[in-house]
Amino acid sequence: MQPLTISQALATACRDIDRIDARLLLQHVLNAGHTFLLTYPDRILTAQQLEAFLHLVQRRIDGAPVAYLTGERDFYDLTFKVNEAVLIPRPETELLIELALQLIPSGRSCRILDLGTGSGAIAITLAKHRPQCEVTAVDLSPAAIAVAQWNARNLQTHNLNFVTGSWFDELSGEEFDLIVSNPPYVADTDPHLQQGDLRFEPPMALSAGDNGLSCIHCIIDKTPDHLVSSGWLLLEHGYDQAAACRQLLQEKDFSNICSHPDLAGIMRVSGGQLNF
Ligand code: GLN
Repeated sequence: MQPLTISQALATACRDIDRIDARLLLQHVLNAGHTFLLTYPDRILTAQQLEAFLHLVQRRIDGAPVAYLTGERDFYDLTFKVNEAVLIPRPETELLIELALQLIPSGRSCRILDLGTGSGAIAITLAKHRPQCEVTAVDLSPAAIAVAQWNARNLQTHNLNFVTGSWFDELSGEEFDLIVSNPPYVADTDPHLQQGDLRFEPPMALSAGDNGLSCIHCIIDKTPDHLVSSGWLLLEHGYDQAAACRQLLQEKDFSNICSHPDLAGIMRVSGGQLNF
């Protein structure tokens, strides 16, 4: 193939893939930022760079998510390593971070639990923003825990410990001031699982039985044994699950139950406080 400049390579890729995807893939190959591409559009790619770029473009055409191709994704104010063992962090999950940070005034020390941590995006972001808190991150998948541990080291997070296990199974007798989770909640019959990026993500991080509510149900059921009095639970859920979540919280005698909309206006996080 004849040599191409940065702008020619991008134009070629944009015939088949999204412009931003093409830019992110080229930045990854060149190990450079957006500014570099804008500043040197006429820089000629080496044969090796062009080959690597076109290979990634082809994988993107075949459906692979950009975050798995570049190995990273920005979330809130940090960048996380990701691979096929973990869900790719989503912008809507930043709502969970904002609500959690509102509940914990900076300076207050408390214990936070993140259930189903995946890449560690939620646990590490909370730990970095509330360094006086102690965060515990749980995941059933050892491969996911390995990714989260790598992210914690890379982001120099020290107030965080990891537990491999199913939900609360390895936490008997432990209590927290705040429990957060973005559990699998897509109904396992949902056709979206066969579309787009979801096809490449770990099913155990995405989908659940009982119309997507089985993990949410399990977490709400067991939370009362692991919250201090006046502690809070916050759960991310599907676009149509807010009312069902509030109902489950009510059945467990939570108070101050409410749901919060994400930036798309969809009720995305529900939670409540447990007073006893
Ligand atoms: N929000 C994701 C999606 O619908 C699902 C994440 C999850 O199951 N926790 O693609």
